[in-house]
Amino acid sequence: MLRQEGIEEIWDGRLYTSLDMAKADCHGCEGCHTCCCGMGESVVLDPLDVWRLCTHLHISQEELIGRYAPLGYVDGCILPHLAMQGADERCIFLNEEGRCSVHAARPGFCRMFPLGRYYHDATFHYILQIHECPCPTRTKIKIKKWLDTPELGRYEAFALSWHDLLADSRSVMQKAGEPEMEKNWNMYLLKSFYLQPYSTEGDFYEEWEGRLKKARQLLI
Ligand code: SF4
Ligand code: SF4
Repeated sequence: MLRQEGIEEIWDGRLYTSLDMAKADCHGCEGCHTCCCGMGESVVLDPLDVWRLCTHLHISQEELIGRYAPLGYVDGCILPHLAMQGADERCIFLNEEGRCSVHAARPGFCRMFPLGRYYHDATFHYILQIHECPCPTRTKIKIKKWLDTPELGRYEAFALSWHDLLADSRSVMQKAGEPEMEKNWNMYLLKSFYLQPYSTEGDFYEEWEGRLKKARQLLI
């Protein structure tokens, strides 16, 4: 998860949209899997990531979270993250050849890297993280192409509204200062957005919007 603090130390000073070009193209990451190791609990999965991985692997959300994406506590919220394993802390989806075994369904965080998101003023921009990817031959690419994400406009709207829901949840829970209420709310978010199955045939974003509307009504 990208931290907002100290951003000036990690970026190139530019705010990008998906229509901009950025020096992010690592040309298939040939021979490198640096960003798939040693990431600790930082590759946090959003509800779309979980749905996409479950659909790809033909497993339930419970199985994904139980085997591949343990829950962690992130800034007051309980969220799943990619499991890292072994001495070099490899992502659980990194295969023996050092390639991603779920490439077509890789999480949004992995699609962006070495880009990140910077949320500000009720929107977000992409930023280029300058210390993260050691590839010496990176070249410029249109961000939209690099993200390789269908229906990018809908995806970006989803990412912003998920970020905002979590931010507002933290704020409401902090103000309330009631641990039991925070625990119950976290369980609600977990069940409603991660564990309740989404239709594999249907439109993820449509189902997501229905759940978001209900959560928003409850959070007021
Ligand atoms: S560190 Fe850069 S080149 Fe290496 S796998 Fe990650 S994005 Fe690809
Ligand atoms: S899901 Fe794939 S791209 Fe993402 S960290 Fe794991 S192996 Fe790397």
